[in-house]
Amino acid sequence: MILRIALPTPLRRLFDYQLPLTVANVPKAGCRVRVPFGNRELIGLVVEITDQSELPLAKLKPVHEILDTEPVLDPHLFELTQWAARYYQYPEGDALCQSLPVLLRQGKPAAFAHAVLWRACSTASADQLSSTAHRQRELLDLLIKHPRGISSDAIRAEGANPALLKTLTEKALAESFEHYPEPPHWNLTDDLLNEAPMTLNPEQQDAMDSISASQGFAPFLLYGVTGSGKTEVYLQAIGQTLKTGAQVLVLVPEIGLTPQTLARFKARFRVPVHALHSNLTDRERLDTWLHAREGRSRILIGTRSAIFTPFKNLGLIIVDEEHDNSFKQQEGFRYHARDLALVRASRLDIPIILGSATPALESLHNAASNRYQLLKLSARAGKAKPPRFELLDIRQQPLDSGLSESLIQRIHQHLGAGTQVMLFLNRRGFSPSLICEECGTVVDCTRCDAHMTLHRTPPHLHCHHCDRQTPIPRACNQCGSTQLKPLGIGTERAEDALAKHFPDVPILRVDRDSTARKNALEQLMAKVHSGDPCILLGTQMLAKGHHFPRVTLVAILDADAGLFSADFRGMEKTAQLILQVAGRAGRADHPGEVVLQTLHAEHPMLQTLISQDYLVFAGEEMRLRRASYLPPFSHHALLRAEATRAGWAEQFLLNLLSESRAHQAQPAAVQCVGPFPSPMEKRGGLFRAQLLIAGSHRAALHSWLDVLIRQAEGQPQGRRVRWTLDIDPVDHY
Ligand code: ADP
Ligand code: ZN
Ligand code: ZN
Repeated sequence: MILRIALPTPLRRLFDYQLPLTVANVPKAGCRVRVPFGNRELIGLVVEITDQSELPLAKLKPVHEILDTEPVLDPHLFELTQWAARYYQYPEGDALCQSLPVLLRQGKPAAFAHAVLWRACSTASADQLSSTAHRQRELLDLLIKHPRGISSDAIRAEGANPALLKTLTEKALAESFEHYPEPPHWNLTDDLLNEAPMTLNPEQQDAMDSISASQGFAPFLLYGVTGSGKTEVYLQAIGQTLKTGAQVLVLVPEIGLTPQTLARFKARFRVPVHALHSNLTDRERLDTWLHAREGRSRILIGTRSAIFTPFKNLGLIIVDEEHDNSFKQQEGFRYHARDLALVRASRLDIPIILGSATPALESLHNAASNRYQLLKLSARAGKAKPPRFELLDIRQQPLDSGLSESLIQRIHQHLGAGTQVMLFLNRRGFSPSLICEECGTVVDCTRCDAHMTLHRTPPHLHCHHCDRQTPIPRACNQCGSTQLKPLGIGTERAEDALAKHFPDVPILRVDRDSTARKNALEQLMAKVHSGDPCILLGTQMLAKGHHFPRVTLVAILDADAGLFSADFRGMEKTAQLILQVAGRAGRADHPGEVVLQTLHAEHPMLQTLISQDYLVFAGEEMRLRRASYLPPFSHHALLRAEATRAGWAEQFLLNLLSESRAHQAQPAAVQCVGPFPSPMEKRGGLFRAQLLIAGSHRAALHSWLDVLIRQAEGQPQGRRVRWTLDIDPVDHY
């Protein structure tokens, strides 16, 4: 008997192994096995049990160990992951193994964490010990007092000696057992709700009616301005699903998973709610994965990789902030969790709700072509009013560390009224560059085509692209001058300026540096939620999912940052960011004000955003995309290559393309653009190039990608050039 195994390797194939005759139980597909591979051992998954192999039987190595009696991947997830591996052109073995929790990849049992506890045997009594064995009697008494078990740590804490447990066990007086924490349990007949749902407003009710009326696979795009009550719609849709006994998966962006979100779901429902996010230990992740698989977890809220969680009975998927790029994995297995969620919902024949105040143009396009049903919430729910937008023209205003005089006055007004202020600047560090005042040389990273960012706490230079860190140089390496000055404003520098202008007000800086410590973000958020006046200053970490009811002024210090991006998605991303940041203002009873500092007050995109709604902006952007045949009106794939020498990567792609074309005619529906050096050619010491492949039909695009990949694998230069393929890339760098 032969097992066809998926292994975590970059090789695009499966591997055959012999099942030794000594093994009594043939493993099922989806079970893990331990196999020899080269001079190592790997853990893989059984894909198929067969009696045929391309290799002679004698050449096949035997499987070392079978790790599961029941599959860890059920057929649905197995097929979904295989589908994803094919679609994203990623090695199947690696994709399947990566979809598992880390502990399962390491070969740990697919079982809950447990503690080993001790108790007295049922027949045990102190009379069975000699009266002089004081320490043993003492221990046995303790065990008898804890009939439900006690850990050896607790025994030590009680002053008894756990080393004597062995003696008592030998005398058949004590025994150990595995204790599993009480599983969350809940019955269909139990009361579902902790609190009464809100009375929906007419738009919410319409949305809810459409969702209720749907049958089987039904994709909805819930477009609702920030604060319009999308979450309330999710909650009521979840309630309906739970009533049928099914489970719900909620996908949220990386940073959006604030304790607030979780708290809101837990406050509403009496059912077990679990979260899967990057702050969990591997053990916690596996336990959560098991809870979902066994149907105990009724609502699972998770980031990107939660799409690979098994469910006993999944009845609804929600993707909140569906436009967010953190749903796309940016390295290795480059899947898009939102898009996989759609495939999963379709295969399970269940509804899926994509929600956003700033939907991706792809999603709007799908709604326009009737693939999704569009549900619209056009006004803020309850009493909250929409924020008032203002473009603050800073052409004539001197800036103090990025702050104009009018903005400083505005901040004074709001703080004076007892509310909070939020400032947004998407650049961490003190200053994005350090320049020589004598000769104009800027300190660059030696490994990247990028400037070094100056950081103040602790003082050093840091490359945000390759993570290289150096001390701050004393003198210019070109002219020797010691006149090195910071150029440009990062969050640390703006923080300094704010502290000078507002010495009595707490300034809470929220960026990757200030929140690196565990719980630092939670502590900062707790201060904001205390409601006292403060100035929040942060990067895009502030833009996502948070609710700051006391914030009445939101200012974007540099609204122009993304206006002239080389990336065709630059404008869409900028619009999304601005509206998301703005959406944090005035969410409760306080009217909000949004100020955008700009040098381009007449820019059409900014004008559209402040006077109209996102759909108007999206409509204009869509026309541009259609005219230049860009996604969503065509499909993109990006073949990236990198090598240690300039030119190698580009040459590799060039050869690849011409050989592919010599081998097979490029389909008419496919266009190749490039290869060109990447926009940042040198990064982390490697020289990079890319080839853009665009297709009007997916099938044609994918068949051409197959040709390119086969050719790439056979390239003789392949060893000195590393290449990756990105399907539906979200950025073109
Ligand atoms: P979104 O998810 O669209 O940003 P939320 O669901 O968080 O919006 O709702 C914003 C605020 O409006 C919340 O404080 C919420 O409690 C309130 N809200 C939502 N729906 C209603 C409603 N039907 N009636 C009154 N208040 C509502
Ligand atoms: Zn110089
Ligand atoms: Zn660098």
